Parts: sequence; structure tokens; C-alpha cells
Amino acid sequence: MSRKVFIAGNWKMNKTAAETKALATELKAKLAGVNDVEIAVCPTFTSLAAAVEVLKGSNVKVGAQNIHWADNGAFTGEISGAMLKEIGVEFVIIGHSERRQYFGETDETVNKRIKAALKNGLKPIVCIGETLAEREGSKTEAVLDTQLKGGFAGLTKEDMAKIVIAYEPVWAIGTGKTATPEMAQATHAFIRKQLAALFGAEVAEATRIQYGGSMKADNAKQLVAQKDIDGGLIGGASLKSDDFTALVKNAASAR
Ligand code: PEP
Repeated sequence: MSRKVFIAGNWKMNKTAAETKALATELKAKLAGVNDVEIAVCPTFTSLAAAVEVLKGSNVKVGAQNIHWADNGAFTGEISGAMLKEIGVEFVIIGHSERRQYFGETDETVNKRIKAALKNGLKPIVCIGETLAEREGSKTEAVLDTQLKGGFAGLTKEDMAKIVIAYEPVWAIGTGKTATPEMAQATHAFIRKQLAALFGAEVAEATRIQYGGSMKADNAKQLVAQKDIDGGLIGGASLKSDDFTALVKNAASAR
């Protein structure tokens, strides 16, 4: 399989700039030489510059947690793609379920943010996933299909080559409830099938699909061993250097 495993830490609204420097310094040392997995951390906006500075020249890349779709203008409190690019950010998480749930993010705004990221040379990590009620109501596939079609509307095959998808069942985020590897694999296979229908078999085969939702050091290997699971987007377990390092190394040993 040619898709390189990709583990990204979503630090959410945690870590001041000083705490970011400390954690990034530890990660740089502990993850040095782990090159068979692509690694990124996504601190909050005010800590991005500190992370970029510490991690420069290392194998740990830096991503933001959101991006506005406009280049500039009267959008109080927002951050543009050019601003992120200028400080050396490489990735940007888009459409996280917390943004959809608490900040009114929709597939339409996800689509606009993806286009802004691509325009500014940033690589989007696009989050999709169903709620517990949707899974229990047998709506998972319909929900994911809508999120994929809406989020990726108007994108080309070339655009898709720069995009990573994070499948994050909302009921598994921060709850300690992980989808079983088999359950996650089945959903990842469905996402890949829909990508093939939208963009062709080549794009479907090449696109990396991370799993997110209570992935930890002790379940990472089993999850990433699944054929269509190409890594993870990690919340809680990315906030301590020992936890994240163990998780990355266990994921690396799965392939
Ligand atoms: C997330 O928020 O992207 C996430 C997967 O969180 P956690 O690992 O804490 O479930």
C-alpha cells in the first residue's frame, strides 16, 4: 500500500505559547528519526508561531485548526490562509465536529475553507463523521455522503491530491468510546467507495483517510492495521509527549 501513515495531533484550545514550546521541544526529541509515519501537531492560533519555530527542520509538521475563506476584510476574530502560510503552517484542520456543533460550520462553509486553504498552499485535513443518533438511525452512510459531496463540491482531482480526510464518528470523540477496528474499517471503505464515485478510482486509492475518536497508544496499531485506515487525528492523547510518541510508534509498527 503506498499511502503513508499520517498521525496528526489536534491540541484544540489547550496549551499557551510557552506550554506549546515545551511540548513541541519534547516531541521533536522523542520523535526524531521516526520517518515511516508523517507527523503533525495542530496548536491553537496564538501558539502556531512558537510551534513552527521549535519544530523547524524536524520531522514534526505544524497545522492550524481552522481558516477563514476570505483573503482579508471585515471578519472580526478570523484568520486567513495568507496569515497561516506566512508563519510557516503546512496543514489546516477543516470542519471538525466541534466547529460544526458549536460554531455553525456547514458543508458549504467547509467547502469555502477548503478552497481558501488550497489557494494559499495549505493542505486541508477535512473532518467528517456521524453523530450517535445518526449511527443508531442507520444514517451514517447518508450523512457521510452528504458531507463528502458538499465539502468537496467543485474540487478537481489535483485538489484532492492535497487533501487528507479524517473520519471522526462524533460519538467517539473525547468519550473513550472507540469504533472497533472492523467498524471503522467498514466506514473507511465506504468513504473510499464514495471518493471513487466522485473523483475516480485513482483519487480514491491515493487519498489518505485518518480515523479520529479516542485513538490512543494501545488501540492505534489495531486501527491503523486496517486496510483503509491511514493514520489518525488525535485529540486527548496528543497533549502529552509520552502518550503521543507511543501512539505514533505503535501506528508505525502496524504497516
Ligand atoms: C478529535 O477531536 O479530533 C479527537 C479525535 O479527539 P479524541 O482523540 O480526544 O477523541
